Amino acid sequence: MIRRHWLRAAIAAICGLFAARLPGAGLAADPPGNRVRPGEPGWPDAAAWERLNRAAGGRLLAVRSPLEACREAPAGCVRLFESLRNPYYLGDEPGLTQTLGWVDAWTLRPSAYAVAAQTAGDVAAAVDFAHEHRLRLVVKGGGHSYKGASNAADSLLVWTRAMNAIEVHDDFVPAGCAEAPVPAVSVGAGAIWGQVYDAVTTRVGRYVQGGGCLTVGVAGLVQAGGFGSFSKAYGLAAASLLEAEVVTADGAAGSPMPAPIRTCSGR
Ligand SMILES: Cc1cc2nc3c(=O)[nH]c(=O)nc-3n(C[C@H](O)[C@H](O)[C@H](O)COP(=O)(O)OP(=O)(O)OC[C@H]3O[C@@H](n4cnc5c(N)ncnc54)[C@H](O)[C@@H]3O)c2cc1C
Repeated sequence: MIRRHWLRAAIAAICGLFAARLPGAGLAADPPGNRVRPGEPGWPDAAAWERLNRAAGGRLLAVRSPLEACREAPAGCVRLFESLRNPYYLGDEPGLTQTLGWVDAWTLRPSAYAVAAQTAGDVAAAVDFAHEHRLRLVVKGGGHSYKGASNAADSLLVWTRAMNAIEVHDDFVPAGCAEAPVPAVSVGAGAIWGQVYDAVTTRVGRYVQGGGCLTVGVAGLVQAGGFGSFSKAYGLAAASLLEAEVVTADGAAGSPMPAPIRTCSGR
């Protein structure tokens, strides 16, 4: 059920994006899929952004690409270009992504603002604000999308990197289920696999199905399926998902729900 909501929201967002690009889409006076860009009528004023800042616990940031500094003073860029080779730096910087384009397929253009979310309530505040003001909304976890899917120019970014709490459980039962407890790990939306392997394997001596690269985000990889070296034995990362806390497209921050692919009664 949650997956249906999620897909519906995702499909609506994608259709909206294409509507603005199709020939003739500009003929309509105000196509419903259009998103407001900076400088256009309807772009939130300073007071509105301050309201979002308060709703998100003071965690609203104006995003500036570090690359802009290079345009202004090219000589000072040597250190920046050294840093760009560091995937941790790229993941930890809201104006960058780990893959800065794939054979010129796309060009990095950062968001206008980011909510450096720490709670599901911060995410919900950002989703509500984007909905109310008809802004482009994008989510960045580990920033490893080769397709640039966590990068959208002039958008509001939900930046989850600080939501990286990890808790290993000996006996876990997904919400609403009455099954026998299993060992599990709860992972925040912004955690990267290196942090999870450290918590689960190095510290507790257990296995968790992820991918091969330590700097890839957990949420992005799981939603993409997630294939790793031991997937022949243990399957995709997504197939191990027991429960997820989801903020829906209407800005409602939900309680943990069992994952639809492994419902309590479906086993
Ligand atoms: C160097 C490298 C190595 C890789 N190795 C593997 C591998 O071994 N196995 C494998 O299966 N894949 C691998 N991938 C692919 C990777 O799993 C996907 O690109 C994945 O989507 C990256 O997730 P992310 O969070 O790092 O990226 P992001 O770019 O932050 O996010 C990817 C997508 O997920 C969305 N997203 C992220 N977090 C959330 C969230 N909390 N809620 C909703 N949407 C969210 C973003 O909006 C975006 O659309 C690799 C990619 C790279 C660049």
